[in-house]
Amino acid sequence: MITSRAFAGRRYAVLGLARSGLATVEALVASGAGVTAWDEREEARDDAMALGADIGNPLEIDLVGFAGVVVSPGVPLNRHPIAAHAREAHVPVIGDIELFAEAEGDLPPHKTVGITGTNGKSTVTALVAHMLESAGVPTLMGGNIGLPILTREPLPEGGVYVLELSSYQIDLSHSLACDVALLTNLSPDHLDRYDGFAGYSASKARLFSLQHRDQVAIVAVDDDPSKMIASRINHRLHRVSGKDIDPVDQARWPALQGPHNAQNAVCAIAVCRVLGLNDEQIERGLATYKSLPHRMELVGEADGVRWFNDSKATNAASAAPALAAFPPAPDQRLHWIAGGQAKGDGLAACRPWFGHVKRAYLIGEAMETFAAEIGDACPVEKLGDLATAVKQAAAAAEPGDIVLLSPACASFDQYKDYEQRGDAFRAAVQALGA
Ligand code: ADP
Repeated sequence: MITSRAFAGRRYAVLGLARSGLATVEALVASGAGVTAWDEREEARDDAMALGADIGNPLEIDLVGFAGVVVSPGVPLNRHPIAAHAREAHVPVIGDIELFAEAEGDLPPHKTVGITGTNGKSTVTALVAHMLESAGVPTLMGGNIGLPILTREPLPEGGVYVLELSSYQIDLSHSLACDVALLTNLSPDHLDRYDGFAGYSASKARLFSLQHRDQVAIVAVDDDPSKMIASRINHRLHRVSGKDIDPVDQARWPALQGPHNAQNAVCAIAVCRVLGLNDEQIERGLATYKSLPHRMELVGEADGVRWFNDSKATNAASAAPALAAFPPAPDQRLHWIAGGQAKGDGLAACRPWFGHVKRAYLIGEAMETFAAEIGDACPVEKLGDLATAVKQAAAAAEPGDIVLLSPACASFDQYKDYEQRGDAFRAAVQALGA
């Protein structure tokens, strides 16, 4: 577990006691801090009490004198009353990444990498961690990926913490100064939680303002908003682009196909170069990387039809490269399953690739609006749910074809999260005998 003398003798409120909330309680108590914890679920409160926390709802207690209110990144700060309540008491609202940053001074000498962007964060984080590990560098992934960082054993000297940071985690951080900070790309997303695109973009840009002068910024400048952020960085900056990747090189990296993965690769390469890996170590990492579940994951192959699970594509910008990856050929047609809970950006980013789609199978709340957007660009079936879509696609697909679930939507209208949606897809495909 990661503990720190910095927390001793202070009092924190922890709101939300799921996995990372409980991990936070445990780390703070072990560091000698007082903790007032709260969750609506009684059993979660019992768990926190067993770990040594007092129980109290931070919304109902006087927070004056608290060192911080720790919330999960899932709490919408723009709407949740805790933000104003904490502000009145002049107490910062923070996340577990902020606690990690405050604890860093007590850890053996190490480097921290922070990775953000609208899409590609998990892929680049996992790829950087894989490249470092395969080069023999002690590495931990944290943030949006893997186990809560505070539960992990500190790395030995020379280790690298690779943090995947959503904009919410950046909003909840104040002292996080990453040795290497990376922005993969930027397009409209999560607009329900920000004051428009400007607010979302400012949140990402803060990762760089939190850095010190001698630390390194890396920005993939393949889109205009990212270029704008890069133009405002005044410390060491590397601009990279997916176009810098030679397709001949990329062909050697099986799990990194498609234009979006050229961008992910160039980002990961830049990070690893700054951290001192040589060309050979970098090439080995790229060539041996395996893709994460729910990201263009091949989940079945039967009767010459290949089924890809890209459930993680929760917006149009992330579904677009998946469509781009399958240009039509005489013996390969693309069947696209899309829809779910729309995020407001529509399908505009996917439009250039509608010509790749032989037939679209639409599900979820977005079904009607997506059908209207696709129009007569390709035949569309409105099917409501994933199981029906899988059946219809199986009936229509011919040998050589691809069936791709790349929803361009959140999953919450029909599933707990994108992982449950992807698992349901995998199970439906396997039930076909694929
Ligand atoms: P994140 O963690 O930012 O959500 P992931 O690496 O998990 O990103 O990828 C999420 C989805 O976005 C996947 O469906 C993938 O196909 C797509 N994607 C991955 N990298 C990029 C990129 N660089 N640009 C656009 N889309 C991407």
